[in-house]
Amino acid sequence: MNSTLSVYNSLTRQKEVFKPIHEGFVGMYVCGPTVYSDVHLGNCRTFMSFDMIYRYLLHLGFKVRYVRNITDVGHLLDDGEDRMSKGSKADNLEPMEVAQKYTVGFHDMMRIFNTLSPSIEPRATGHILEQIEMVQSIIDRGFAYSRNGSVYFDTIKFAKKTGEYGKLSGRVIEELISESRDNLKNQDEKNHPSDFAIWMKASDEHLMKWNSPWSVGFPGWHLECSAMSTKYLGLQFDIHGGGNDLKFPHHENEIAQNVGACGCQPAHYWLHTNMLLMNGKKMSKSDGNTISPVELFTGDSVHVSKGYSPMVVRFFMLQSHYRSPNDLTDEALLASEKGFKRLMDAYKNLSNLSSSSTGHTEFDKKTEGIIDGIFEDMNDDFNTPKAIAGLFELVTIINSLKEGQIAISEISHATIEKIKSTMKAIIFDVFGLKDESESNAGPVEGLMDLVIDLRHQARNNKDWATSDKIRDALGEINIQIKDGKEGTSWGYK
Ligand code: AMP
Ligand code: ZN
Repeated sequence: MNSTLSVYNSLTRQKEVFKPIHEGFVGMYVCGPTVYSDVHLGNCRTFMSFDMIYRYLLHLGFKVRYVRNITDVGHLLDDGEDRMSKGSKADNLEPMEVAQKYTVGFHDMMRIFNTLSPSIEPRATGHILEQIEMVQSIIDRGFAYSRNGSVYFDTIKFAKKTGEYGKLSGRVIEELISESRDNLKNQDEKNHPSDFAIWMKASDEHLMKWNSPWSVGFPGWHLECSAMSTKYLGLQFDIHGGGNDLKFPHHENEIAQNVGACGCQPAHYWLHTNMLLMNGKKMSKSDGNTISPVELFTGDSVHVSKGYSPMVVRFFMLQSHYRSPNDLTDEALLASEKGFKRLMDAYKNLSNLSSSSTGHTEFDKKTEGIIDGIFEDMNDDFNTPKAIAGLFELVTIINSLKEGQIAISEISHATIEKIKSTMKAIIFDVFGLKDESESNAGPVEGLMDLVIDLRHQARNNKDWATSDKIRDALGEINIQIKDGKEGTSWGYK
């Protein structure tokens, strides 16, 4: 196992050597989507970044428990409306129908982008009991108070007693007072404006509500992640992730709840992704500066000159470091498309290169240095853009060997094999890219191509008996073939 991985910890604001709590195991919690509307490309960037991190941890040999939740209750808009209720009104559906619809859409998009499923994907509505228990623990430890059926976290008392509030976001209480947006409607119920609701009494018209010791209501948004990470990863685990817009209030409040209920910081390392921009500005629906993944694939948008495949988009995302902002522009996507093709072509050409040399030349040493550099870059807080630069150095070597600019005798068999295993590991296993030029056809499609080809040959030879035999035999297994101007096609009857 490679033990030299360093990660940037947002909590301590420095790079730290990654040391898991239990050797060989990693517990990682990532805040999942709020399923009240279609997932947007910014969300996709964050989930693809954590997919790359998950994949690299697996590559290093860790056994990873990756928990990514589904937020299907409690995430309020600035005006206090529950996002699920908003989605439910917009689509004229039950809130749980809304959750189901957009969870399925989210999974479809994650599959299109070739992200791995998390180990556990808990839903907030499936963990109401755990959240109620956590509210009770926080009250019991003196860090929350109930008021008119709602329960509020007492930030001032917590900050004074533990000194923990504001550490992640770097805010002081005075700033928090002005910035706290939590449930503005009930501001006057709170002891202090920076206090936040961990349980909310529901109004009569509110659709999603549950019985609790305090009222018929629903949990505060921040609470679900505290309750579910504790349930599936324990009181303390290794990595907690999310977009950097979640640092405050969501993650700050998560930490407060965990420390408040259990007395300890939940995660050792807090990892935050930076935002996806478009044409230099934050993607925003209200000023039209937005593009959906589907519009990007089809090119059906004023923001792009053409469509880009999912793997080109994934490659584009990897070309910036997960902690840097990433600006989506047509030019950048065109460059990614070219780069991705160059990478895939070189990987294919690699399979035709073979050397019988068993020596160890300067050229071998130089190539090994590039390979080591790629892993060092990945160990340096998952520096994908630098690792990609290393891959392109390998591409140059492959192309030079192919074109004969470098004699094949200059490189050993072992080094060629090392290039192959490195490219395979980084491009496919860690970056999660796929070669889209390869046919996605399974064995049935391959066999049918063969059968149709044989039938063509028979017809060209005027061997009508064989041609009919093939058609009839396929008919018996419910496969119909059709001859048309464009050629022969097939389908199930
Ligand atoms: P949400 O569904 O709003 O809870 O967001 C799901 C995840 O996407 C969170 O980790 C957000 O921080 C992240 N996210 C939202 N907008 C962007 C963006 N423009 N770029 C990158 N990540 C984002
Ligand atoms: Zn969360």
